[in-house]
Amino acid sequence: MTVSIHPSVDNGVRPGRADFAGGTLSCKCAHDPVKVTIKGNVAHNHACGCTKCWKPAGANFSVVAVVPRDNLSVTAHSEKLHIVDPNATIQRYACKECGVHMFGRIENKAHPFYGLDFVHTELSSEEGWAAPEFAAFVSSIIESGFPPSRMGEVRSRLTELGLPPYDALSPALMDAIATHIAKASGKLAAA
Ligand SMILES: [Zn+2]
Ligand SMILES: [Zn+2]
Repeated sequence: MTVSIHPSVDNGVRPGRADFAGGTLSCKCAHDPVKVTIKGNVAHNHACGCTKCWKPAGANFSVVAVVPRDNLSVTAHSEKLHIVDPNATIQRYACKECGVHMFGRIENKAHPFYGLDFVHTELSSEEGWAAPEFAAFVSSIIESGFPPSRMGEVRSRLTELGLPPYDALSPALMDAIATHIAKASGKLAAA
């Protein structure tokens, strides 16, 4: 049996739409769901194997993307949100009732990803969100109990789906982080 990555990509990655204008994410509560509205499309959508990102039951990976924080607003039942771990770099706002993470936010202004919120587009019924492009923190699924002996299968499946597997972030994002750090330390001239 093919190893499952995430329900939204297991049958193939669906392409996004360049002109997609945004949509609304809803938590899994049958009554009074938390709603988060996003203006415009997401960027850097990817599968993530870390232990912190929210994933649906049974999934080995989360699928997570970023949006500029100014493009995101909580439009219903913000009273149901709480921060999962206030000490984490990314403060993940989850629904207290169903446990779904609605968005993650970085408050440290010096962080390379400050200004971007992390979201899961599978919480929206709209079609057209930018598709996942790669898989990050692949080795970390072992930390959630995935058998190390099957990692070859996982990496082959990710490659087959067009999601190149990396054990940190993608090279483009790792370069962006290093550039930010080098500019902050003066090793590179600030833009
Ligand atoms: Zn909920
Ligand atoms: Zn993650």
